[in-house]
Amino acid sequence: MPTSATGDDGMMVRFWGVRGSLPTPGPSTVRYGGNTPCVELRCGPHLLILDAGSGIRGFGASLGRGVEADILLSHTHYDHICGLPFFRPLFDPAATLRIWGGHLTHPDGIRSALSVTWRKPLMPDLDAEFRARVSFQDFAAGATLALAHGPRVDTIALRHPGGSVGYRISWEGRSVCYITDTEHSADGPDADLVAFVRGTDILIHDATYTEEEYRTRHGWGHATWSAAAELATVGRVGSLVLFHHDPDHDDDWMDAIGAAAARSCPDAVVAREGMRIALASLTEYQGATASFGSKPHI
Ligand SMILES: [Zn+2]
Ligand SMILES: [Zn+2]
Repeated sequence: MPTSATGDDGMMVRFWGVRGSLPTPGPSTVRYGGNTPCVELRCGPHLLILDAGSGIRGFGASLGRGVEADILLSHTHYDHICGLPFFRPLFDPAATLRIWGGHLTHPDGIRSALSVTWRKPLMPDLDAEFRARVSFQDFAAGATLALAHGPRVDTIALRHPGGSVGYRISWEGRSVCYITDTEHSADGPDADLVAFVRGTDILIHDATYTEEEYRTRHGWGHATWSAAAELATVGRVGSLVLFHHDPDHDDDWMDAIGAAAARSCPDAVVAREGMRIALASLTEYQGATASFGSKPHI
């Protein structure tokens, strides 16, 4: 069994927050989790963090000193950034953090958009307390990001009020797409989005609504699980992970969505806090035993 089955050399995805819109703790969400979006993505030795919702607090608490990471934000709606001031590495002088945002058009960019959330009157003036080396990187959605090293990161603009950015991260012949806070047109998924996700190993996708709920929520910038399944099928992706659960959807509801989605898209799973997926690097996989299988290890 190659060591990359655990993600040491390949890719590893771990979900720290899967809920949309608002943290939703309590007994009715204990199995799927109530924290808002945060996904840990390991590409060999490189750490990327997709969004900084309330789930990033627990992730930060699990990390040691001297963390180096790129934090890729889909956008700055509060559910995607509210955990950032509670991310422990921000207070570590040995940490290096690069924060990326690509949905803003005003010249002050991502630094300005974030800093108002950790200053008076919303918070104490926390930036005087941050000790990490932090840089802020603005880009235009559609760009390929120039990370200092490590994986390739392609981006795409998504349909969402105020904008949102989708990411495709590629590493050692594998890829993961993170497409959240987006809405498909009535004609189905956009051709450029299909091309963007085509053939990816894992598609993490907004699945906030059922079709019935969506009828009264057009223009709110979120997708249904069936729209996500359609994109996964047309784009021939490996596995679909349904993400950004509505705060009103309790665990039993999510069980029902998972069962329905699996009937139309056999490789669909519902994201849960703590869920981990490992992908061996493709070069290692091709030399691995048949028992390792062709699917991600969930
Ligand atoms: Zn959201
Ligand atoms: Zn949003």
